[in-house]
Amino acid sequence: MGRPRAVELPEGIRVCREEGHKWPASANVYLFRDDRGGALFDVGCGRPDSYRDLVDFLESEGLGLSDIHTVVLSHAHPDHMGAMRFIEKEASPEVVISSVDRPLADDPRRLNYTFDMGLARHYFGEELIESMGLGFFDIVDYFEGMCPMSGAAVHRTVEDGDVLELGGRRFRVVLTPGHAPGHIALWDEEGGVLLSSDLVGQIAAWYSPSSGGAAGFLDSLERVERLEPRLILPAHGGPIADTAAAIRRTRRRILAVEERIERMLSREGPLRVSEICGRLFPHPVIRFFPGIQIVDSHLRRMSADGRVVLEGEGPECAARLT
Ligand SMILES: [Zn+2]
Repeated sequence: MGRPRAVELPEGIRVCREEGHKWPASANVYLFRDDRGGALFDVGCGRPDSYRDLVDFLESEGLGLSDIHTVVLSHAHPDHMGAMRFIEKEASPEVVISSVDRPLADDPRRLNYTFDMGLARHYFGEELIESMGLGFFDIVDYFEGMCPMSGAAVHRTVEDGDVLELGGRRFRVVLTPGHAPGHIALWDEEGGVLLSSDLVGQIAAWYSPSSGGAAGFLDSLERVERLEPRLILPAHGGPIADTAAAIRRTRRRILAVEERIERMLSREGPLRVSEICGRLFPHPVIRFFPGIQIVDSHLRRMSADGRVVLEGEGPECAARLT
């Protein structure tokens, strides 16, 4: 096999990339140079060291923060926009985000809804959740110690199909829910370059029903697959030249969860949703996030397809194959 060949970035696009890719890794920050300075796609997480890396990176490009005239945010998650807490103190770029994710930039506590944090209580029951002593569960507090979130004053929202000009390239906004309700990818048709953010990349992005879920994620993959990108620039990891394979891998990873659920149910008969989740995500905290969110979004898709039936309420809710 050997080491994969490093893929070059297209002309005029630069990246500030955190080494290592273990969560909570800061998202890649892409820089587009132009004669007014530069524009950024995502800004990284709100840890002081990530922010320092960004400032050092800009400096190495001969830029200061005040030269950044535009910040486009792929979605309102902490590893992508946390650094706004520092940036807004020192500069005033025009901040752009999809209209769907804008409320999350206005008030990050709303992430508790798009992350479906209530599902843990719903399926595992009040008692268990209380006994965990996790103060269950404000997602903004949860991230605070590892990759702090930030709000941002948004100046402009974009919709699916809008065009943004960054560094002399024309990018079409492609709304790609699944991982976040207002998640966007940027498509440079002329160059064949797709900025995929978390849709495709080195980190397997989770999904929750209110963010689009497994069904939304799969639809989004199909949308970008049809574009036949020559190159994918993800939020985590390096440039991807074998784009079709990367999209297929991502799809397979999502469908594999469903196959495991089906196998489990056909072997053992009906199982509570909390049991299914506990087997797929044995880690004591991960099962509450993002485990139960992933499982619930698959069960919804499977029940919409008529493959499973859900019976019972709350912690008693169980799934069986039809
Ligand atoms: Zn994200």
